[in-house]
Amino acid sequence: MADSKEKKAPSARMPVLFIGHGSPMNIISKNSYTDSLAKLAKELPLPGAIMVVSAHWLTDGTQVGCMPKPRTIYDFYGFPDELYRISYPSPGSPESAELVSKLVRRVQVKCDMNWGLDHASWAVLKHMYPKADIPVFEMSLHYSFNEWHPKPLKYHYDLAAEMSELRSNGVLIIGSGNIVHNLGLIDFRNTDARPYDWAVEFDAKVKSNLVNRNHEDLINYQNMGQSARLAVPSLDHYLPMIYAIALQEKDEPLTFTHEGFQNGSISMRCFRIG
Ligand code: ZN
Repeated sequence: MADSKEKKAPSARMPVLFIGHGSPMNIISKNSYTDSLAKLAKELPLPGAIMVVSAHWLTDGTQVGCMPKPRTIYDFYGFPDELYRISYPSPGSPESAELVSKLVRRVQVKCDMNWGLDHASWAVLKHMYPKADIPVFEMSLHYSFNEWHPKPLKYHYDLAAEMSELRSNGVLIIGSGNIVHNLGLIDFRNTDARPYDWAVEFDAKVKSNLVNRNHEDLINYQNMGQSARLAVPSLDHYLPMIYAIALQEKDEPLTFTHEGFQNGSISMRCFRIG
């Protein structure tokens, strides 16, 4: 009879997350949203590494951070000094970043040694893994700078689906953006400002499509009407969600780990797949 200790357990698939990150003020705030991040991290299997698909890293082509020690990037302006004194000194994961380059076949994913961790990563991870002891690297979003309009959403969806195997390698993939993100109409002063009707409407439509695993309609979000135009004035914060859903297997559950709004025009909806 085989010793059960010798049996190797099948490698568990890491869940995939979409996290709405909102204002950098969340870094130093304590609220229901930041509480939900801390709780979520405790419920997850411990990741070997974390890859964040960042709304704040827009490049010509897709890149991954390959540096062993990514720097903390303060890509926000006019906030309290306290925010600029906080750092997130986690190690990088060059091996996992290289694995991404191998897995993605349809484009060449370039290895970057300059960027680091912008606040789409560390503002979130500060609450999830405050010790910064898990290796972290970022993936950029391909934006065509010449024309300043991005690739079709289906392009991003198909690219993300090719990274599925990362999940069996202990990598926690996090899309970090916001489903509703309109800075032009934001109420900077009031985190708890009443959300706009169109923001509530669009967020609810996206929720419904997520519940029903209707990826097609999430990719073709413009068909959701006027609220879509206001909720997604540019694609940068919506796209990380497309990366997350692309990694959802057919029978895999999706659960919301937080919902709500901040500053009137930002949905803080977060979810977990698997
Ligand atoms: Zn952002």
